[in-house]
Amino acid sequence: MSGFTRDPLHYGDALVYEALQGKWRRYHQHCGCGEDWVDAHAIPAGFRVVRRRPGFVALVGPGLTEGVDEERLTTNALWRAVVGAPGPQGWFERVQIFERSEEELAQKSTRRRAARSPERLDRRRKGVAGEPVTEAQGRYLNSLATKISRERFDELYAVATAKTATEQRQPGEKTSALITRLSKASARVLITLLVEGR
Ligand SMILES: [Zn+2]
Repeated sequence: MSGFTRDPLHYGDALVYEALQGKWRRYHQHCGCGEDWVDAHAIPAGFRVVRRRPGFVALVGPGLTEGVDEERLTTNALWRAVVGAPGPQGWFERVQIFERSEEELAQKSTRRRAARSPERLDRRRKGVAGEPVTEAQGRYLNSLATKISRERFDELYAVATAKTATEQRQPGEKTSALITRLSKASARVLITLLVEGR
């Protein structure tokens, strides 16, 4: 599980490079910055993480899997980003190709559909973007909401979500339902407004 890979089960038709974390962490020691090599170097250099698992990270990006000659694949572009020196690899890597059965692919898309829970779909439908409200924020907001009138809450809710597409209270909707569709950022704003009582 390392090297250039084509695996329709995980990556559709994209060519990706699966980088072993241990190996690239060792290469990164040359740098001495002490940061994580993916976050500090690979991503800023334009590589994108398409999958993270314990032990490896799957990357795509310029010079690595994009705009490259597939007969002459090396990890030199990634090396340059992570180590900060020209890549030393003078030999070419082969692409490991996984043949997947229709059945496997169908199972995967069924699992994907299941992962899209009704709650998540509901949030998306109602225009909530970004990280969702946390459990702690939700609890706090519900308790703050009991201390003011519903009208006042709705006013502040509208202010906190003004720059988003978040849906406002629908007829008969409970305050707790409004709170669940906040983003983490809007929740933070709303807490401030409620606490300051403005
Ligand atoms: Zn570094």
